[in-house]
Amino acid sequence: MSGYNSSELQVVCSPGQLFLQPLWDRLKTWEAVLQSPFFPVIFSIFTYVGFCLPFVVLDFLCPWLPALRRYKIHPDFSPSPRQLLPCLGQTLYQHLVFVFPVSLLHWARSPAHLPLEPPELLQLVRHVVLCLLLFDTEFFAWHVLHHKVPWLYRTFHKVHHSNSSPFALATQYMSVWELFSLGFFDIANVTLLGCHPLTVLIFHVVNIWLSVEDHSGYDFPWSTHRLVPFGWYGGVAHHDLHHSQFNCNFAPYFTHWDKILGTLRLAAPRGQW
Ligand SMILES: [Zn+2]
Ligand SMILES: [Zn+2]
Repeated sequence: MSGYNSSELQVVCSPGQLFLQPLWDRLKTWEAVLQSPFFPVIFSIFTYVGFCLPFVVLDFLCPWLPALRRYKIHPDFSPSPRQLLPCLGQTLYQHLVFVFPVSLLHWARSPAHLPLEPPELLQLVRHVVLCLLLFDTEFFAWHVLHHKVPWLYRTFHKVHHSNSSPFALATQYMSVWELFSLGFFDIANVTLLGCHPLTVLIFHVVNIWLSVEDHSGYDFPWSTHRLVPFGWYGGVAHHDLHHSQFNCNFAPYFTHWDKILGTLRLAAPRGQW
């Protein structure tokens, strides 16, 4: 877009696009990297580990910082290296051996070039929220099924319940089938809605953050469930309860499906800070 003057930009772009145009122009200078077959896997691993790392550091510091423990859902629990390393190892192994070949197939079917223009800001926000709601619904159905059918639970979902007190790096400690199911929902939703590549990127970042926060074991004043009003969002407190009680809070993020099906259990109120 650098060849346009400002009046031409007004004609070509709507105000919502103008806001995102500089960001999109900057990202497009990395088009070769973004369009590389390696990008989805490297992006996914780095974003995930990057979001987990601060919680790993907090868990390490917790025994020496009593003030930090008041934000922990299980104040006396900190994962040991023997718990952390297999989780990290499994994430790296599954991404390299299983996710990479699948993302290669997806890459081969993707358009050769990124679009010139960014999405509308409102459209981007609408699509990210819709993708989250759809993902929440699909994972809720998958999750209930994999708890209600004993064979499905034992074969595919039990491994994710290895940790009754979750921690950040346990987020992706799951069977290959579960990982592929989540990945499939992810890709199906953005394809179904015809999301712009920038929207897809932002949705993935948000989705990875929310899933890590769900398992972090920390209930901060700024945790997502404290920012979304009317108890619409369950988040870390709810998902932690699912890991310890198994038969409640099947939706990963929002509370409406558990409310409708009577599987919502509220976490005990925590002290004020
Ligand atoms: Zn979980
Ligand atoms: Zn479960």
